[in-house]
Amino acid sequence: MVIYELLNELEKAIQNSDNPHFEAELIIMSALKIDRAKYLISKNDTVSDDTINQAMKMAKRRQLGEPLGYILGNAEFMGMEFLLNSDILIPRPDTECLVEFVINRIGDKKLSVLDIGTGSGCIGISIAKFCKNTDVTVLDISKNALDTAMENAKNNGVRIDCICADILNSDIGKKFDVIVSNPPYIKTDVIKTLQTEVKDFEPMRALDGGRDGLIFYRRICDILPQILNNGGMVAFEIGYDERCAVEELLKQTGMFKNIGSQKDLAGNDRVVYGM
Ligand code: GLN
Repeated sequence: MVIYELLNELEKAIQNSDNPHFEAELIIMSALKIDRAKYLISKNDTVSDDTINQAMKMAKRRQLGEPLGYILGNAEFMGMEFLLNSDILIPRPDTECLVEFVINRIGDKKLSVLDIGTGSGCIGISIAKFCKNTDVTVLDISKNALDTAMENAKNNGVRIDCICADILNSDIGKKFDVIVSNPPYIKTDVIKTLQTEVKDFEPMRALDGGRDGLIFYRRICDILPQILNNGGMVAFEIGYDERCAVEELLKQTGMFKNIGSQKDLAGNDRVVYGM
């Protein structure tokens, strides 16, 4: 069998996924350990039975609803590659909206940044990469996630610090100029209505924001006086219906002159900030 034929087989096997052609290509590149440039000039090359078996196994997992990110073991975010494990939420394109907002605000200023609930590290690492004068710390409850985040930082050529802590129950004991977070924000009751890919495969503790989805925003706002320097900025990713509630929480801190929001490319409220 040549690569081109394997592509057809894979596409058939995962025909119910979001984008069978593109996903089949990624599976082939992963099974063959080649990049897109190499893949594009190799379509008539013969593939070994081992590769075929491996690729078909990956397609089978995809067919059963597992997100491609976990099958490949990585995902792309802000043009960089991030390794994943089962303790890590797959980076979403929507989150680039939060990162771009923060990067544009920071520019080349020399600031300390804390990314709360970092998972793969994608937010903190992107800020470190694009804002060379920042000093980035990432925080997560999962040691397993932090190990991968540190590896992702190294692979993407940036240096970050990490803190392993449960933000709901611990003191950070340090202040930062910028706090950024994409915390779990789905209402507990809503989780069971999400698509299989999310509810059956992604880490529950990266999704569940409690009964009203706001538990992490409330806690972070409560401790802001202890973790945010005067004149600092906070920026959150939010669920599409959480803007008013999160703006109100920021207002109640009395720490910000300017509170506002940003929409994502689909036109949904996605970022709330205070500065
Ligand atoms: N945006 C994610 C989703 O809907 C949720 C991420 C989060 O809770 N922070 O799957």
